[in-house]
Amino acid sequence: MPEPLEAVIGLEVHLQLRTRTKMFSACRADYFSAEPNSFTDPLTLGLPGALPVINRQAVELAILFGLALGCQLEGRAQFHRKNYFYPDSPKNYQISQYDSPIGRSGHLDLGGRTVRVRRIHLEDDAGKLIHPPGEPVSLLDLNRAGMPLIELVTEPDLTSPLEARDFLYQLRSLAQTLGVSDANPEEGKMRADVNLSLRAPGAPLGTKVEIKNLNSFRSVQRALEYQTEVQRRQLRSGEAVRQATFGWDEAAGRTYLLRSKEQEADYRYFPEPDLPPLAITKPWIEKIRARLPELPSAKEARYLALGVRAAEAALLSQSPDLSSFLDRAIAAYPGPAQTLVNWLLGDVAGTLTASGIEIAASPLRPEHLAALAALVDRGEISGKMAKELLPEVMEGGDPQELVAARGLRAVRDETTLTEAIEATLREQRELAERVISGSNPKAIHALFGQVMRRTGGAAQPERLRDLLRARLERLAAERAERP
Ligand code: ADP
Ligand code: MG
Repeated sequence: MPEPLEAVIGLEVHLQLRTRTKMFSACRADYFSAEPNSFTDPLTLGLPGALPVINRQAVELAILFGLALGCQLEGRAQFHRKNYFYPDSPKNYQISQYDSPIGRSGHLDLGGRTVRVRRIHLEDDAGKLIHPPGEPVSLLDLNRAGMPLIELVTEPDLTSPLEARDFLYQLRSLAQTLGVSDANPEEGKMRADVNLSLRAPGAPLGTKVEIKNLNSFRSVQRALEYQTEVQRRQLRSGEAVRQATFGWDEAAGRTYLLRSKEQEADYRYFPEPDLPPLAITKPWIEKIRARLPELPSAKEARYLALGVRAAEAALLSQSPDLSSFLDRAIAAYPGPAQTLVNWLLGDVAGTLTASGIEIAASPLRPEHLAALAALVDRGEISGKMAKELLPEVMEGGDPQELVAARGLRAVRDETTLTEAIEATLREQRELAERVISGSNPKAIHALFGQVMRRTGGAAQPERLRDLLRARLERLAAERAERP
């Protein structure tokens, strides 16, 4: 039996920062879906004489992110030039960070496992090359050129493709919670390079390969699974793994060789002569720390303490949009949070998915969901009525007003409910007999359901339960009195 080989994975993740302007100029950053090359300026175009200026907002977002990751931040950060032929970047070098990044030695906890973050640094992005199919030309869109990126590099602490994917999910929700980045791979605002090697348990690290520019979580997992198989075969057959960089063909489901590894020296990094070093001071860091919102891990703990079920607490804490909606609903609702969670992840989520609308864009107001749940709790409407009202509440309707306008209150009227109870008892003699004789007291639940059905779900549940119980107790007492 050959020894099992285990995967060793390290990630390099790029996140586009949510800033007003680009990394080193006043060029606006909200270019998404704009005309190609409409968001440029002399620096973006690499015109001679254009000089960079450090974007304070980008630095502060990086510090905020570093704080959330527990990074060491204080000290001197320095920008470096990384030289390379970039067909999509006219200035022909990237301004990045080399030996003095913004942050070092952080970590992200994945439910029980800690993944160390080696560093986070700032850099500017390149533009985009477009290759129209079938045409012998390449087009260039420079809107993205000069956009601020955080690059985050992990230690090789991940042990499976699924765990790598999980790490990226957690990182995305952290970035979104902090407002650091939209972090959506679909818009290219989160991209990952992955590094993989295999080794026998306890052995030193093996030779790694890199797969570059993965732009979906699914691709990350598939590409890693694919290369795991390739390396497993190589190692089993006694071949050596060759250090190399691959691309990923999502359609074909396989990697392709880009280049055998270039050396760091090839980039001729040198300190950026147009930018001063950046002093990251303690008072500055502390000012930014005060802006830290509740992090997903703390949010999850808070939901658990409110009695929300574990799987749902985890899910909600990962989604800033859902959790901020929930928090506003909780603030307006005296009942148990789980009731709101049931609505939110049940009927509300179902309706949103069906209509393709995100919660943040929905006209549904958190206070209205809270009001709807409270109407049910107070017995003013039945659960069934609430479900019937939901579509209109999701269109922005106020449940209180809807109930009033339709005269929809749940039936509490004793005469009406008693009539329904009597009719049901006549029809369900056997069920009633079991309760009255005491042979099966639980049959009262079935009877309750029958009466409720007879009222079309309109009966106010507690009121009905009380009346039904009282009626059955009276019948039982009458029987006991008989000789
Ligand atoms: P390089 O010098 O080739 O760029 P680095 O040491 O800078 O390599 O690491 C780059 C990325 O590769 C990091 O995310 C790191 O965790 C990961 N990595 C390093 N060595 C290995 C290895 N043997 N197996 C898997 N991943 C690795
Ligand atoms: Mg490296």
